[in-house]
Amino acid sequence: MQPTQKLYEADAFLRRFTAGVLACEAAGPGVWRAALSATAFYPEGGGQPCDTGTLGGAAVTDVHEEGGTVWHTVSAQLAPGTAVQGEIDWPRRLDHMQQHTGEHILSGCLHRLYGANNVGFHIGQPAVRMDIDLPLDAAQLAAAEAEANALVRADTPVRCFVPDADTLARTGYRSKKALEGPVRLVEAGGDVCACCGTHLAGTGQVGLIKILSAQNYKGGVRLAVACGQRAYAAVADAWADAEAAGRLLSAAPGRLAPAVGTALDNLAAQRWRAAALQRELCAWLPQAVPPGTRVLTVPGLDAEAAGALAQRMAAAVCAPCAVLAPDAAGDTARCALAAPGPADAARVRALGAELGKTFAARGGGPAGRWQGSLPLPDKKAGAAKAEAFLRRALEQQGEG
Ligand SMILES: [Zn+2]
Repeated sequence: MQPTQKLYEADAFLRRFTAGVLACEAAGPGVWRAALSATAFYPEGGGQPCDTGTLGGAAVTDVHEEGGTVWHTVSAQLAPGTAVQGEIDWPRRLDHMQQHTGEHILSGCLHRLYGANNVGFHIGQPAVRMDIDLPLDAAQLAAAEAEANALVRADTPVRCFVPDADTLARTGYRSKKALEGPVRLVEAGGDVCACCGTHLAGTGQVGLIKILSAQNYKGGVRLAVACGQRAYAAVADAWADAEAAGRLLSAAPGRLAPAVGTALDNLAAQRWRAAALQRELCAWLPQAVPPGTRVLTVPGLDAEAAGALAQRMAAAVCAPCAVLAPDAAGDTARCALAAPGPADAARVRALGAELGKTFAARGGGPAGRWQGSLPLPDKKAGAAKAEAFLRRALEQQGEG
């Protein structure tokens, strides 16, 4: 098969073309693969996904290269010897070129500033993955990102060229692997890198480069990066999210961190007060209820307080006792059961199991204690039903 003329290498902005069909063979049910004399479809490679689009009205769903021939996976058979019109999905390609060119500029900055190498690159969804071979910190990444965006705003031409052997030998360029024969170089934002992908015509067309996240990876960092429209969408989403959070906290975007700090401090203080008040309540409540009380409903008690109260009540009446604590929404209740001593431990365990069967409660605990929660589908009425059930069950146990 003769090698395919790669129109995308000479003109990355070519969207429509006409070429001859050299071969078309079945590749599965309803699927064929076609080779053309020339193509603007970029085959998957170098971290850049393939183009999609149409060929002679058929859908192109996959494109890959084999030994210099570009094969197009198409939804209809194309007649060899005829000419077909091809059209690539331009928004998809433009997105890939924004991500790819942005990656060149950012990798160049990381290399220039820190001697770091991009050792893995993939244009994925929703972000571009870049694996960097040095453990760079947040400040270093922010400095590189700032420099990369300055290069975008400088809007200098992006140049793709294949130098002769002498020029190549004299040219410093980045490459992920050792290369032989003619090497296609891409110059973008002062960085030169060996690359076979498609790129924008100028750095300004990248628009924006944003590092979305960084995590330690194989002794270096793995970055999630967005460029162009993706970067704009990510920043717009984050801004909308910050504004929504700001409305909840009465703070403008940019002042969220101190507002969240204050809210967390207030929450910790409220938690401490709630715990202290519950301890007080549990200390005097057993003396304030009618003598012989074995079941109490106290909305809002936490697990620790409910358990402590059940134990105090059990000690006071010398029999197993129960505490129900519906939550703020009233659709679930905490339940604590306690026995006064080891002799009643089995009764507490049996009652916990009955709660599971009757109310779909889930819980458990050490001998003589049971802690769990039960759903209350009909809220207040459900809580009353559960309380009546516990009272009856504890009385029956007393008779048995
Ligand atoms: Zn490239």
